[in-house]
Amino acid sequence: MSETAQQSPHHIDVKEFHPRAQAAIHNPKIRQNFRKAMDGLMTKRKSAFEGWDLETLRDLGANIRLRALANLPDLLEQLEQKLTENGIKVHWAVDSDDACQIVRDICVARDAKSVIKGKSMVSEEMELNHYLEEQGITALESDLGEYIVQLAGETPSHIIMPAIHKNTGEISELMHEKTGTDLSHDVEYLTTAARLQLREKFMNADVGVSGVNFAVAETGTLCLVENEGNGRMTTTVPPCHIAVTGIEKVVPNLEDVTALMALLTRSATGQHITTYFNMISGPRKPDEMDGPEEVHLVLVDNGRSSIYQDNELLDTLRCIRCGACMNHCPVYTRVGGHTYGTTYPGPIGKILMPHLIGLDEGRHLPTASSLCGACGEVCPVKIPIPDLLVRLRQESVDGDKLHPAKVNGHGAKRGAMEAMVWKGWSWMHARPGAYRFGTNMAARFRKLQPGKIGGWTQFRTAPKLASKTLHERMKERGQ
Ligand code: SF4
Repeated sequence: MSETAQQSPHHIDVKEFHPRAQAAIHNPKIRQNFRKAMDGLMTKRKSAFEGWDLETLRDLGANIRLRALANLPDLLEQLEQKLTENGIKVHWAVDSDDACQIVRDICVARDAKSVIKGKSMVSEEMELNHYLEEQGITALESDLGEYIVQLAGETPSHIIMPAIHKNTGEISELMHEKTGTDLSHDVEYLTTAARLQLREKFMNADVGVSGVNFAVAETGTLCLVENEGNGRMTTTVPPCHIAVTGIEKVVPNLEDVTALMALLTRSATGQHITTYFNMISGPRKPDEMDGPEEVHLVLVDNGRSSIYQDNELLDTLRCIRCGACMNHCPVYTRVGGHTYGTTYPGPIGKILMPHLIGLDEGRHLPTASSLCGACGEVCPVKIPIPDLLVRLRQESVDGDKLHPAKVNGHGAKRGAMEAMVWKGWSWMHARPGAYRFGTNMAARFRKLQPGKIGGWTQFRTAPKLASKTLHERMKERGQ
């Protein structure tokens, strides 16, 4: 399995966003691959919602998520109780390391040596493949896109379509090099070749690991949305199934899933419904022929409960991971997912990752946006993404000790000089004499004003100081 070992995102320096963005902008292949894919997804989304009262549906989706979040602690308790009644073992993980260890312990208890995985962004967040490889347990991705990026030793560049940065020719070359398939542009041939290789792995895997789209508290049901059937295989063929998900994925009732599904599939891939919709409600019963002997759910916090403490930032947790904000983002569609260097790229990554990695490391994420608002307009659960970006920008420069820190790395972008200038500015504004003296001096010595003011003047012309103060102008007018 070493040829498929995944590169850990830890090798990527998130702070190096700007040089990576520059390189991506000048890479025509990346721009072409993303442009083509994103244009297709935007068109499909638009036509999938034709004839629907989209705003009412988005309101419904937003309200379902808000109601779930308002009752999150109670719902999680209810979910644990119902899952336990259904025979599913529930584990709570404080962070990624904790979650990885829980998965490892389950594998070790079963003497498991091989894991097959369905698509799960939370497992990407945990860097689970990397961790398991270090523990001597092979982990193979079975989602076609994830399988391709794993073969390439890369990480996903999109949360729904992990290998969207590659075109058919690149995928063909990769599969030829790594698995010996013929070079071909025939998508059917490549898909069949991957399916045949994976089928054997499914049969021999000791454990299946999957994500969860919605966890229903009322019934203790884990819902999984997918198109390839690999999710169904992962959760039913190996003797043990471990589902991993964030604590925010809980919804109160089964009927909530109907509206969220309608929004999720249309927003993500422009489909009215996905090919497979799995509802997992426990391990195999004595009179059943299929299914795993054991089912586990790992509920991962990893910074989510701290987001939950803040009434504004809390909106981040509404996300149903459809990827529509990325498909419509003018920055993401030009620089691609790997430029961000984070598990979740694009607009959702810009508002979620600072909580997971801190603003000191992720300081460039909230500013990698033109604030055009497209992400907020298409979000199916109406997350006010631009407002949250502005809030995180404030957090990143607000190092005032009087303001309680809400996000790790609070004030990471606050420059000493800028802080001093604003401190002096506020001191002067509170003292009329000092203000008058200061503005007088600025007008008199305006020729000494520097033409460049750091990053502010990289793309802008510096504003010129006026030759007369406001007081002088008013005096001239006799006012
Ligand atoms: S923020 Fe909204 S649009 Fe973006 S992935 Fe989440 S639900 Fe989808």
